Amino acid sequence: MLPSILDLDIKGIEDIVSEQGYERYRAKQVIEWIYKKGKLDFDGMSNLPAELREFLSCNFSILPFEIIQSYKSEDTVKFLFRTDDDMIFESVVIFHPDRGILCLSTQIGCPVRCRFCASGENFYRNLRYEEIIGQYIFARNYIKRDIRGIVFMGMGEPLLNEESLYRTIDVLTEIIGISPRHITVSTSGIPKGILNIARRNPKVRLALSLWTPEEEEREKLVPVSKIYPLSEVIESLRRYVEITKNRVSIEYTLLKGINDGIGDVHKLISLFRDMPVFFNVILYNPKDEDTKIYQTSVEEALRFVDLLKRSGKEAHLRVSKGGKISGACGQLRAVYERSK
Ligand code: SF4
Repeated sequence: MLPSILDLDIKGIEDIVSEQGYERYRAKQVIEWIYKKGKLDFDGMSNLPAELREFLSCNFSILPFEIIQSYKSEDTVKFLFRTDDDMIFESVVIFHPDRGILCLSTQIGCPVRCRFCASGENFYRNLRYEEIIGQYIFARNYIKRDIRGIVFMGMGEPLLNEESLYRTIDVLTEIIGISPRHITVSTSGIPKGILNIARRNPKVRLALSLWTPEEEEREKLVPVSKIYPLSEVIESLRRYVEITKNRVSIEYTLLKGINDGIGDVHKLISLFRDMPVFFNVILYNPKDEDTKIYQTSVEEALRFVDLLKRSGKEAHLRVSKGGKISGACGQLRAVYERSK
């Protein structure tokens, strides 16, 4: 596969076009075709000289991966990509009545290795910047409509791939024009990364995936907690709120009999008593039957949400979209790998 031009910033493209004898402003035209108009081939860049288009086509690709499958359901479309080193990863667009939200992957597999997550079964490598922004460019072109929200909630822990994450956020906000308030970074709880994002991108939204308010239980479910204990995560969130003045979204997936009891509600309330947070309570999408982790019933989930609300916190029950197409993070890739 040819090198992806997405890896080059404007200065890099200016250098390439001027080496070929063209004016440097041609680089801006290339950037506009790709990032603003979503062109996926150089031939269609009609305001570039034909020889320059040919040169670019012979020396660069636009996307750094190939699409190998797409799956559609009523309210989602999910893509599987293959990289130049033969790795598979995925992203998903979720359609809401008024907007499309794109869920981006930042790693292939995930080093956090949560027990109940298909992405955590293995970790291969970080996705490079061009592989992350490429998901956006491909998805927008494929669905032929605007993507108004970005969530870094696909495969991987974004705060363990910070350099590529920040470069992607810069391009999304500064070149493509997505408001940072419509971008959410979801973390399993990496304290240093939480402080970094507070200082570097204070307008971007932060979500914490919190599987349990219990330190011991968390160590069993989320092995990275042995390195980053919950107390440190909570302290970093406090600092995050002080610096950004943002509310934090707490993503809480209910696991039947593990974290969905009344005691868990009380611990959650006490953990976040003085912090501006809102709870997104999510019904678990089982990764397979072997894990012996099951979904809480809707009635129990609604009761859980109601108790959170009574404490004065905002809370919603979110039914995970895309379950029919293995829509939870990493599931599609896992199904694909098993079928090979
Ligand atoms: S839930 Fe998130 S942090 Fe945990 S293994 Fe899966 S992708 Fe990684």
